[in-house]
Amino acid sequence: MKTLLSIITIIALAITPALADAKIKAGPRKGRILELEGQNAEFFVEKDRTVSIAFYDAAGKKQPAAAQVIVATAEAPGAKTKLEFEKKGDLLVSKAPLPAGEGYQVVVQAKTSADAKPKNFRIKLLTHTCGGCPNPEYACTCDE
Ligand SMILES: [Zn+2]
Repeated sequence: MKTLLSIITIIALAITPALADAKIKAGPRKGRILELEGQNAEFFVEKDRTVSIAFYDAAGKKQPAAAQVIVATAEAPGAKTKLEFEKKGDLLVSKAPLPAGEGYQVVVQAKTSADAKPKNFRIKLLTHTCGGCPNPEYACTCDE
């Protein structure tokens, strides 16, 4: 049985190399997936450096933003900035852009509703496209 499981694991890894490193997942917009209770949020840096968050149910179907509360802190050196989010269409979008610079941490605090337990995510802000996969570096799913 153990051998069979190993074989299945090897086959699964061979078929889905992107999932082999299951730590970071990317969403349909090539953003970083933040796993929440029963749903996923997708962190995405727009061209104007605002952050937009899309939501998906457990099956991966896109859902309009509802009661979720997102707050982010951009830990830019000398310019630590708290970002608040507002609803824009189906998304939650930061009211201000990320501070200039790259490589600093963005701490995202996500709650599925105002009274839900908050979950924190630390994302290293690197917005250039990864060479090994088509995602921005902050949502890189490969081993580059
Ligand atoms: Zn990559």
